[in-house]
Amino acid sequence: MPTHRNWAGNVRYAARAYHRPSSVDELRELVAGSDRIRAVGSGHSFNRLGDTTGDLVDLAGLPATVRLDEQRRVVDVPAAMRYGDLATWLHERGYALANLASLPHISVAGAVATGTHGSGNAVGNLATAVAGLELVTAAGELLTVDRDDDGFAGMVVSFGALGIVTRLTLDVVPTFDIRQYVQLDLPRAALEAAFASAYSVSVFTDWRSTRGTQVWRKQLAEQAAPPAGWLGTTPADRPWHPVPGMPTVNCTEQLGAAGPWHERLPHFRLGFTPSSGDELQSEYHLPRAVAADALAALDEVAHLMAPVAQTSELRTIAADELWLSPQYGRDTLALHFTWVADASAVLPVVAEVERALAPFAPRPHWGKVFGLTRDAIVATYPRWPSFEALLHRLDPKGKFRTDELDRLFPR
Ligand SMILES: Cc1cc2nc3c(=O)[nH]c(=O)nc-3n(C[C@H](O)[C@H](O)[C@H](O)COP(=O)(O)OP(=O)(O)OC[C@H]3O[C@@H](n4cnc5c(N)ncnc54)[C@H](O)[C@@H]3O)c2cc1C
Repeated sequence: MPTHRNWAGNVRYAARAYHRPSSVDELRELVAGSDRIRAVGSGHSFNRLGDTTGDLVDLAGLPATVRLDEQRRVVDVPAAMRYGDLATWLHERGYALANLASLPHISVAGAVATGTHGSGNAVGNLATAVAGLELVTAAGELLTVDRDDDGFAGMVVSFGALGIVTRLTLDVVPTFDIRQYVQLDLPRAALEAAFASAYSVSVFTDWRSTRGTQVWRKQLAEQAAPPAGWLGTTPADRPWHPVPGMPTVNCTEQLGAAGPWHERLPHFRLGFTPSSGDELQSEYHLPRAVAADALAALDEVAHLMAPVAQTSELRTIAADELWLSPQYGRDTLALHFTWVADASAVLPVVAEVERALAPFAPRPHWGKVFGLTRDAIVATYPRWPSFEALLHRLDPKGKFRTDELDRLFPR
């Protein structure tokens, strides 16, 4: 276990013991013999959803074998593998994943468990690439499920509540090249057009005006470059970092140089600090149809957000069918906040943001800071009762429960 805190340092894990099994059998024994147990990935979440007062298990010691099935176009990977390592492995063999998050440092199982996403009108979150799962259940049994199995849609985004995932099978596509252009100063009226303009688009803002300070346009290499005056923006003539003033060497290559998907889709490079490194994050997922009204509502609290936001990012994600996915049944606009690392200054602002967004049925990012009530969250998830039934069936004694899970799914 490299650390007993999360990456941001705002959560010190409450576990009574830490484990790093070196085989699945050892893990099964550990789970069978524990009354309270959780897995931790690379620790990049910002809340206590994954914390436990029982046993905390790091899966990085399990066999690291990766298996590509070119016939079925899937890859079978160990839970603790980082997306960055998997991406390099796949690219060397001529394959790719459809999308990646802003950072390649996160583990596959941890990212999938919280519905982690990148951007792209037509691209689903990272969990939508999951074709199968292998997990150790509360009884210590090894369960293998795939897309054809009943309840599978409830098991993929489930923040470790149903068991400890040991391996995942992911869809792959042929490798592809991307060119990344940064454009500055986007008028809000052009937001939809910007999102529709390329494979994956992120718009950053600082809430000091309604304009997007930076547009990161990640386009398929064969697409033409943004023309002069594109949507009223100006082209960047040097590399940018989403957080002004941070070193741009941490960021993936820009200025339109073509390169492989995994060296352009994330904003940050493996081996370098992602984001600012000294921060808290929140994110809310809204139906895309309410984007204009939700942004207008946030304008009312912009004066509160601006002083504590290092940056803010708007992304789009395609709807999916995973019961607890923040994109379940909704083409989504994601509103992300990189806050300063001061909870006492940030939490009151988070509450104001949530109040402003309340009419728009926001769903929180499962891995970030939020304070929404259980009722507000449940009301946005039509399949919540189905997930509760699955939870009671697979973990009847609450072995994988945490305090936060007990709040969300009272027994
Ligand atoms: C700098 C930074 C940038 C980020 N950018 C993005 C982004 O672009 N898009 C986005 O959506 N999110 C983003 N995030 C959030 C991040 O992707 C999620 O918090 C993600 O869950 C982190 O993965 P992890 O491996 O660190 O998981 P952890 O934080 O370690 O764990 C997350 C959850 O998964 C569970 N879990 C982990 N491993 C297993 C397993 N083997 N079996 C069962 N459950 C397991 C844990 O119990 C916990 O509930 C960012 C975070 C940071 C710090």
